[in-house]
Amino acid sequence: MENIFNKRIDELEDYFLSINEKKFKASQIYDWLYKKRVYDFSKMTNLKKELILKLENDFSNELITIVKKQSDKDTAKYLFKLEDDNFVESVLMYHNYGISVCVSSQVGCNMGCKFCESGRLKKVRDLQTYEMVEQILLIEEDIKQRISSVVIMGIGEPFDNYDNVMNFIKIINHDKGIAIGARHITVSTCGIIPKIKQLMNEPLQINLAISLHAPDNELRSKLMKINKVYNIEQLIATLKEYIQKTNRRVTIEYVTLKGVNDSHSHALKLAKLLKGMNAYVNLIPYNETNNIGFKKSDKQTILEFYDILKKHNINVTIRREFGSKIDAACGQLRSKEVDA
Ligand code: SAH
Repeated sequence: MENIFNKRIDELEDYFLSINEKKFKASQIYDWLYKKRVYDFSKMTNLKKELILKLENDFSNELITIVKKQSDKDTAKYLFKLEDDNFVESVLMYHNYGISVCVSSQVGCNMGCKFCESGRLKKVRDLQTYEMVEQILLIEEDIKQRISSVVIMGIGEPFDNYDNVMNFIKIINHDKGIAIGARHITVSTCGIIPKIKQLMNEPLQINLAISLHAPDNELRSKLMKINKVYNIEQLIATLKEYIQKTNRRVTIEYVTLKGVNDSHSHALKLAKLLKGMNAYVNLIPYNETNNIGFKKSDKQTILEFYDILKKHNINVTIRREFGSKIDAACGQLRSKEVDA
């Protein structure tokens, strides 16, 4: 039985038409689910008894469950258990401009980036749309507050689960759904070029972030095996096309790894690579984990890297560190659960 939280509103409209009901019923269902947060069909008081039975017959409304929550001052990390006993996690962050949530898109990840905890554990399966939607619903319910932005940067490669991730985005973005503005939704990819091209043609004003992490092919291929399939030149050319087509700025994520990709010459190469592009670099202090040997760059090194980019007119920010005390490195909570 399909989960109701898998359904975009236009799909529900088609469903209602197919059972000889009016399509506005889809809006009524959305209103219960996403505005009133009533998930039980039998409590949807403006539906006829017959229709409730039909819905109960055709759709489940099962929720994933929160099995662990670790918080500190401005961060909380949630571990979710899925219906098949797999685990994924989300991170909640309180900023001065609002509340953001980082959601997972797969159970594990096959991209195999050397520094990443999520990739240490191979992909078990893609998340279904409802499992991403429910990460948001359950967190909002837990904190009794609305989430203002969503980043798809948790466990998994969103573009290796493109269709479900797009449906998720359409549901949370829809006015009648959770109504999170497209400009407050960011999807991050290690650089799967065909999907970046596909995203260019979606009628969605969401943000795109690219995990670059190295300014040349030699180093990037060592860190990220995806680079052997789609190299830097191809990636940058695709991003230029994306920027031209969508008129949107892209974010370049660059996790600074001590002694690996954080030297002055790396910064210079990066500046040269991005010259003239409508892009900004987000320098990410590395979250160290017990299982992987990489170390985080010193503060001073990161600042020097930042200065070099600035000097070459590259927009750059240093990501604020969240949750390092609570195992917030992507995949850390899940891998503890799985290794245990
Ligand atoms: N697969 C997608 C999204 C998930 S990872 C991607 O590759 O973009 C989100 C970001 O966190 C990526 O830039 C990833 O490289 C980075 N990251 C992974 N492990 C990290 C760690 N331990 N510390 C800091 N950033 C990390």
